[in-house]
Amino acid sequence: MEHERHALDREAVRRGREILRRAERVVVLTGAGVSADSGVPTFRGEEGLWKRHRPEELATPEAFARDPRLVWEWYAWRRELVAPCEPNAAHRALADWARRRDGVTLVTQNVDGLHGRAADVGQRTDAGTADRPGADGGTPRRAGADPIELHGSLFRVRCTACPGRYPHRDPVDTTSERSLPRCRACGALLRPDVVWFGEPLPSEALRRAFEAAGDAEACLVVGTSGVVFPAAGIATAAAASGATLIEVNPEATALSGLTEVALRARAAIAVPALLAP
Ligand code: NAD
Ligand code: ZN
Repeated sequence: MEHERHALDREAVRRGREILRRAERVVVLTGAGVSADSGVPTFRGEEGLWKRHRPEELATPEAFARDPRLVWEWYAWRRELVAPCEPNAAHRALADWARRRDGVTLVTQNVDGLHGRAADVGQRTDAGTADRPGADGGTPRRAGADPIELHGSLFRVRCTACPGRYPHRDPVDTTSERSLPRCRACGALLRPDVVWFGEPLPSEALRRAFEAAGDAEACLVVGTSGVVFPAAGIATAAAASGATLIEVNPEATALSGLTEVALRARAAIAVPALLAP
């Protein structure tokens, strides 16, 4: 099995912990790999087979303009795949750590909302009763636990006509174009609040992420291949301004050459080892 092939390197864990302990500011960049242990499928997996459409053909503004029903059908299906997935030990360790200490900025490329849910869970006092709150749950907490979602979220929508933007977990009725979700402010069609191919990343999220990268003394990169830009640029920018890079990934990546400490292990094993008190 994957994790047996990559036993945790105790010396690398010790060095990683030391770097993180000394760093006043840390920027964390996560990708699809951090959610692999939660069972979230990747683009290259089953999704590639969905009704013979490739993500590159559906996740575009042109596809939505042409056939919003088809695009919503695909997102409804992706939501169904992700909804039963739970944050894993890596999401939880990151959320706990960011709550315990100052100076953490968590940046993710994932659209599955699992970092936010891990932060929400830690925040609750009555874990059994609260419904999953949206990204704007409103409870004050240390900012580090709230992820900067560079590519948006499957569980938020935004209006195609006005600035309206809402948490949205309800089932979507994709039987006809008229049944698709509509903006409560202006009545126009709502779309998934995710960044599509050819679209710019949300500028405020990007600005905050690069600011954190420029200020960080350490950068922890978890489960990203480091080939999707500008997201991967967070890690290269951090390295360029002097941050020490720590990588958690069972495989070497495009960022491995910049890395001081590499933990070749699954996120759910290596991240708790790095961040446990
Ligand atoms: P990627 O698919 O390019 O790379 C994933 C990386 O995770 C690989 O380097 C792989 O070796 C590593 N990995 C696999 N299993 C792991 C584990 N258990 N622990 C740690 N690492 C593991 O993903 P990316 O770099 O995030 O870029 C892909 C793009 O697709 C992004 O833009 C992202 O928004 C999108 N995407 C998001 C999700 C999600 O929200 N969970 C899922 C698939 C794709
Ligand atoms: Zn609107």
